[in-house]
Amino acid sequence: MRKKISHLFILISLFCLRSEVSQAQGYRIKTIVIDAGHGGVKPGAKGKISLEKNVALEVALMLGKKFEEDMPNVRIIQIRKTDVDVDWYRRAEIANDAKADLFISIHCNSMDKGNHTTRGTETFVGAYRRINEMDAALKENEDIINDKNYKKRAEAIIIDPEELIKLSLYKSLYRAKSLSLAKMVQKNYTELNKRVNRGVKEQGLLVLQRTAMPSILTEIGFISNPEEEEYINSADGQQEIVDAIFKAIAQYKKEIEN
Ligand SMILES: [Zn+2]
Repeated sequence: MRKKISHLFILISLFCLRSEVSQAQGYRIKTIVIDAGHGGVKPGAKGKISLEKNVALEVALMLGKKFEEDMPNVRIIQIRKTDVDVDWYRRAEIANDAKADLFISIHCNSMDKGNHTTRGTETFVGAYRRINEMDAALKENEDIINDKNYKKRAEAIIIDPEELIKLSLYKSLYRAKSLSLAKMVQKNYTELNKRVNRGVKEQGLLVLQRTAMPSILTEIGFISNPEEEEYINSADGQQEIVDAIFKAIAQYKKEIEN
């Protein structure tokens, strides 16, 4: 028991230290992970003319290209560049292994059948929940929880107390920064793109649960609304969305680095 407590104490100290280091003078955002939601056998939400996984991928790739052109000093890592499924925990692992400074997940929203009018953008930050208390009703958790490997993976995490402590520490360390970036993204969608603003929300989203850096999941529009579906599929619409996210990250970067 004593050994376990001292172990946890070391872990906590390490995370506090890491946080101070990241606040140190001269800190620069060097690596950004872009995560196109869903993929492969997991299409995400379905619209009349498109699938969420494809729209998310197009916008993610376009955003990456924008960084290459306009902010070439920042390294971009794409979780997927093609139509493949990547496990939810693996997405976070890739970002953690790369010691990324930001994690941006791109998704499309949808309403239940019959609702074709709800519109707008919203951006989530991950609230800490124990993995077995994860909200199964959340749309973005659905296809993870339905995955046949999910239960096994989640159980392995639940029984490891260090994992639980790490998860809650990550979330408390990076909460303020994640919220600040999420607010900037929403502000740009609203001011630059004149989109309906559904705001910033904190939810127990699995894909944001294990990332050890400020992380957001942005819903770029409702695929269940035909007008918005057309917008998020159009070259102009996608460019507007990419410009809004890029500008928000540039503003966030400036604020953090000063
Ligand atoms: Zn999604």
